[in-house]
Amino acid sequence: MIAVIERMLMRCESCGRGYAARRLEDETVHLLGGKDACKCGHTAFSELVWDEVL
Ligand SMILES: [Zn+2]
Repeated sequence: MIAVIERMLMRCESCGRGYAARRLEDETVHLLGGKDACKCGHTAFSELVWDEVL
């Protein structure tokens, strides 16, 4: 079983919509809810730093 090591936010590089995500032990990042694409259809995301959000 692969453990979650970090919770994070990812931002769609196209429309800027934010999504909650998890980074796993194998360094892969998965959006919550099993999604892998933004509502706008874009699939590239950049990591949001918490400091930018709060
Ligand atoms: Zn988008």
